[in-house]
Amino acid sequence: MSTVLPLHEPLPRARDPRRGAVHALGKRLRHQVGRAIADFGMIEDGDKVMVCLSGGKDSYTLLDILLQLQPKAPVAFSITAVNLDQKQPGFPAHVLPDYLKSRGVDFHIIEQDTYSVVSRVIPEGKTMCSLCSRLRRGALYHHAQQHGFTKIALGHHRDDLVATFFLNMFFHAKLGGMPPKLRSDDGQHVVIRPLAYAAEADIAAYAQARAFPIIPCTLCGSQENLQRKQVQKMLDAWERETPGRIETIARSLGNVRPSQLSDPALFDFAALGTGASPAAVDDGLSDAQDTAMREA
Ligand code: SF4
Repeated sequence: MSTVLPLHEPLPRARDPRRGAVHALGKRLRHQVGRAIADFGMIEDGDKVMVCLSGGKDSYTLLDILLQLQPKAPVAFSITAVNLDQKQPGFPAHVLPDYLKSRGVDFHIIEQDTYSVVSRVIPEGKTMCSLCSRLRRGALYHHAQQHGFTKIALGHHRDDLVATFFLNMFFHAKLGGMPPKLRSDDGQHVVIRPLAYAAEADIAAYAQARAFPIIPCTLCGSQENLQRKQVQKMLDAWERETPGRIETIARSLGNVRPSQLSDPALFDFAALGTGASPAAVDDGLSDAQDTAMREA
């Protein structure tokens, strides 16, 4: 049976087993978000943080955890939740304002009919997500600029980072993912992903326990991206076979050895001689290479 702890319901009594589970989950998420913020210098003193709230479990969790961390943070920053109402048919426009008012959170709702644009331009049956995301990003960046937000916080989590890494590898032949912090191409915005260390399963359990009023992202009727679905299936199978594998992959994204890859733009292989540069001393016999050689 799932543990459901509605937002306005007091925490269960001390001996209720639900209390421990929800507290442990919240504690882990706060710890992971705090660590990501510190590791990547995501939030500085005086920042105006715009938290993009779509109505999905990830962005609700992000907002909730940031609100909990804010009063205890060593730096002062403000939080404003921003939702883009894309005018999808059946979008329950009252849900987010009602929720945000009940939490006493400062918020803005942007109304922009990107749905009509996307459904006019993309042929029926094709996935609309890529254009939809581009238009959404444009609208959110524009809003951030107009209102002087210094950071744009998105709800992508550890599993999104890993899936994007494989999508790039499998379908674009490049090693690169979704960074926890980035500057937009025009240099005008800094985007942060404070859930970068958080597992999707934890976020899903937390969102359920907190009974966030989730708005499904299927109102648009878009087909799920086939490539992403394929990668997700692969990762799920790996995780079932070897629990903890996604976490290991995620950790590897922060432990990169350019001298043990094959990109001359990243590492000056041509300059390698017999001198004692640190890279030359490391013979590259990493654990994986050891294993490969043993198995050969
Ligand atoms: S599922 Fe729909 S709303 Fe969500 S990104 Fe794709 S097209 Fe946009």
